[in-house]
Amino acid sequence: MRLIFIGPPGAGKGTQATRLAQRFQIPHISTGDMFRAAVKAGTRLGQEADRFMKQGQLVPDEVTIGMLRERIAEPDAVRGFLLDGFPRTTPQAQALEQALNADGVRLDHVLLLEVPASLIEARIIGRRSDPVTGEIYHLEFNPPPAEIVERLLHRKDDTVEACRARQVAYQRDTTPIIPFYEGRGLIRRVDGVGASDAVTARISAALA
Ligand code: ADP
Ligand code: ADP
Repeated sequence: MRLIFIGPPGAGKGTQATRLAQRFQIPHISTGDMFRAAVKAGTRLGQEADRFMKQGQLVPDEVTIGMLRERIAEPDAVRGFLLDGFPRTTPQAQALEQALNADGVRLDHVLLLEVPASLIEARIIGRRSDPVTGEIYHLEFNPPPAEIVERLLHRKDDTVEACRARQVAYQRDTTPIIPFYEGRGLIRRVDGVGASDAVTARISAALA
């Protein structure tokens, strides 16, 4: 199974992708997580990506595409994968298509998680992640257990300013890939409003 998740920042892609990857036993490949790991490790890639991420801007295509191509060539991704946060631009979508064509494989579904802009900011500002388990929480909508609150991380791009910049980037750079995949009959629209379990059920229905 080869899946892609598209949706505005904070739509719930990471939350749902974790569940789907478990269900299909495929790697959950998040370019955002890969960049954050590189920033933490202090690699050159991380230093370059950090400049853009801090401001809520996209990392340049040439950097992102190279990183993703290497990742999907790894053995665990041969049978399938779930991409979360890639592609985010038309050149990224084209590069992915070329890479898959060269391997003689194709995408099965592109899930478009739809959440209105009015709900996005609250989701992003309250987001916290657990560095130990990788679990994503929300202070209000998915509250963490009291004993782990101290260790939770608040992403430095989960501020009001960076969040707005990311929404602008989503509208400008990422929404054009929706017609790209629509033309290939791959888009499955899923309403991302409501409880996470309800959204998971809608995703299952969309893939059935
Ligand atoms: P969110 O889950 O809030 O949408 P991500 O974790 O996917 O955020 O991405 C965080 C940041 O990492 C982005 O704002 C961008 O700077 C960078 N990034 C992640 N994926 C890509 C990509 N495919 N192309 C360019 N930049 C990316
Ligand atoms: P994305 O990967 O699209 O940026 P996340 O999965 O990280 O989104 O979710 C963003 C925030 O919204 C997190 O704090 C998460 O706990 C919360 N969240 C996820 N799904 C829902 C939902 N269905 N309702 C309310 N909050 C949600």
